[in-house]
Amino acid sequence: MADKRSRRAEMPAPKVFLARCNTYDQKTVDQRIREAFSAFGGVDAVMPSGSRVLVKPNLLMSYHADKAVTTHPAVIEALLKLLLDAGARVTIGDSPGFGSAARVAQEAGIADVAARLGVRIVEFNESVEVTTPPGSLFRKIYVARAALEADAIINVPKFKSHGQMTLTLAVKNLFGCVVGRRKAQWHMAAGRDHHAFARLLLELASLLAPCFNLIDGIVGMDGNGPSAGRARPMGVLLAGPDALAVDHIAAAIAGISENRLPIEITARQIEHFEASLRQIEVVGAKVQDLALDDFEPPESVDVQFGPRFLRRTLRNALAARPKVDRQQCQACGICADSCPPQAMTLRNTRIEIDHSACISCFCCQEMCPHHAIDTRRGWLARLLIHRST
Ligand code: SF4
Ligand code: SF4
Repeated sequence: MADKRSRRAEMPAPKVFLARCNTYDQKTVDQRIREAFSAFGGVDAVMPSGSRVLVKPNLLMSYHADKAVTTHPAVIEALLKLLLDAGARVTIGDSPGFGSAARVAQEAGIADVAARLGVRIVEFNESVEVTTPPGSLFRKIYVARAALEADAIINVPKFKSHGQMTLTLAVKNLFGCVVGRRKAQWHMAAGRDHHAFARLLLELASLLAPCFNLIDGIVGMDGNGPSAGRARPMGVLLAGPDALAVDHIAAAIAGISENRLPIEITARQIEHFEASLRQIEVVGAKVQDLALDDFEPPESVDVQFGPRFLRRTLRNALAARPKVDRQQCQACGICADSCPPQAMTLRNTRIEIDHSACISCFCCQEMCPHHAIDTRRGWLARLLIHRST
């Protein structure tokens, strides 16, 4: 299956819609999301009438909507109403990190919205092997059949910080279209190289090519995201057909330099991805009016500078590692089950980490339901920060 990247270079400069939205009041959210589609010619211009549309929210794991881990149900409701009014045949789907999509959607308040509007929630439990285009880093990608067979995907991420990728936005949200345990295999395939993982995410986004991306940043998360950080009002909605361009503007709002974003650094090295970052036209609100001056990034540091032979040493000295908070830990073992290289072991009631095997993917932190995993910077990073304060 060919992806749409070959057409990217000839496409006009990407456009991103940006709006201030400080509330989940349904009428207000309905209005903003209608404006988002109008900026691109309306729902009918974004996808053909009668399409089978898959709505892909962030359903990481079971949390109440107030925790800002999952996409808010008011955003999903506004989107579903617009799509159904336009005659689309809509389903909602995801492959959560833990638990079923139905269970996570229930806790997040999305299942009630779906039931009220007659929309089915599908589990991603069957993978399809897809051969990637020449030049891809990975020759094959396995994606959920439901995502591949939809006529159109609408990607609805939550605006959050992320230990490995610094931010999780539209591109990263599509990793949920990889089914269950296959996610761990991809983490292992990329290993400690966050840029290889970023390349996989870019290739996956290119393959799935959502027709529209709508980032819920009304209340987002900073600090130790994507599940253990601080839920915080951000007051923004972003939208557009180009996931990478939308993410670029979101990062600008968070004040995160592109040098801290593995996805963006990787994209800039590859022409067909780099095109998404050229001359982005922002419509609606202005970035400077919505910029956050207190967004706390995660503590992780990736090392891509210095001579290649020194990078490993530097990475070990600088990179953040997971650290278990013994007071918080409930010895449930979920982190050990989620650890791609099985670097964690639950012994009696203690989690032990083999740091020589750890690939700093932070899946453990993402999955810990008790927020018992902190990040600890490498010794050199701690020393440098201590000296500068
Ligand atoms: S997932 Fe969290 S609470 Fe459970 S064993 Fe791991 S660190 Fe402890
Ligand atoms: S210990 Fe945590 S950060 Fe390290 S490899 Fe396992 S899941 Fe990833």
